[in-house]
Amino acid sequence: MTSYEEANEIISKEFSNYKLEIEEVDLSDSTGRILAEDIYSDIDLPTFTNSAMDGYAIKFNPGITQWKIIGEISAGNFKDYNIDEGLTVSIMTGGKIPDGADTIIPIEDIIIEKDTIILKENATFRKGINIRIKGNDLLKNQIALSKNIVIKPRHIAVAASCGKSKLKVYKKLNIAVLATGDELVDITTLPGEDKIRSSNLYALLSAINEMNQTGINLGIVKDQEDEIRTRITSFLNSDNNILITTGGVSVGKYDYVKSIMEELGININFWKANIKPGKPIIFGTYNNGSAIKFVFGLPGNPVSCIVNFLIFIKNNILHLLGVEKDDLFIAELTEDLKKKDGKKHFMRGMFSKSIDGNIFVKRVGLQSSGNLAEMGKANCLIIFDEEKRELKKGEKVFCIPI
Ligand code: AMP
Ligand code: MG
Repeated sequence: MTSYEEANEIISKEFSNYKLEIEEVDLSDSTGRILAEDIYSDIDLPTFTNSAMDGYAIKFNPGITQWKIIGEISAGNFKDYNIDEGLTVSIMTGGKIPDGADTIIPIEDIIIEKDTIILKENATFRKGINIRIKGNDLLKNQIALSKNIVIKPRHIAVAASCGKSKLKVYKKLNIAVLATGDELVDITTLPGEDKIRSSNLYALLSAINEMNQTGINLGIVKDQEDEIRTRITSFLNSDNNILITTGGVSVGKYDYVKSIMEELGININFWKANIKPGKPIIFGTYNNGSAIKFVFGLPGNPVSCIVNFLIFIKNNILHLLGVEKDDLFIAELTEDLKKKDGKKHFMRGMFSKSIDGNIFVKRVGLQSSGNLAEMGKANCLIIFDEEKRELKKGEKVFCIPI
């Protein structure tokens, strides 16, 4: 059976054949998008040499500690003074430095007597202090932001300073989700005696949303071949890039999803991965000549569904978008863990940090893949490797934050 690593390699290799599209968006709409261009500065930053403090601009001479005030420069209101030794102008933070001045003495370091300032005895007094030199932050035409970052407010500040009112970003992927199962009803319906609410659709849409991609809810279909065939066909004919189905991928009598995918020409790259939970996962690709589409058939078990999304889909989409996000972390187990099989387990865990920065982890109570409420308490997945059967209290384990 395909191992976790092999499965991820297969997905990642197929994803690498996908050509990302680029679009331009307003700077103010770009937060959370992925930058698809390098940004260069169109000016020197700062654009002019200016004061880093509210204070007094002087020409430094270690022997002079008093200066006559001859004027004032506030931010944005430059006046042309020539500052010789013994002269000064009052200057505000951001004010352009006048000719001759090379040092700013902060207001806190002087005493004013009439039109003269006197340096306080304990003041720090060195040539060049409190001056921000033109181009010191970034020179014109230098790279300000590199592509493939997830755009955050701090990047917006940089882009705005470089005069970028629009940014090139990768188009969001359209990811359709479809739930299969005769037992499913939508969340607004009170389930009858043998029915359940289709939580998977909403969990997946939320996970897609969290990645700032576009989720499309294709709703629920019954375990009926015709219905499933019709929905998958309409996905294949649509502009959507990825389909995620849930349910009907195991070996039950009414598990039609895989055979229908095959019948419709979807190439099944793997079916079943040596993991727990979520073993029956299907990954397939479909190439209609002009575009490549990816299809994931996830098991219906709500925990398996979320775990599969996290360990196979999320990481590969981020990788496809150029965002390297290896957020595995190491934590110390606070209890013994056991398993009986040779699968790689992703146990729902709860990690916490102690004051001295150490990370501890324990598993949350019930690990059955049906225990959704328990999953809600977890904040990470503890990775329990194939060959191990036991992990001891105190051992270090890899975890994935969720
Ligand atoms: P299946 O993968 O179709 O064999 O379903 C496995 C289990 O997951 C069954 O108990 C289903 O009732 C449940 N299940 C299937 N689809 C969903 C869904 N969309 N939301 C919540 N639970 C589901
Ligand atoms: Mg089913």
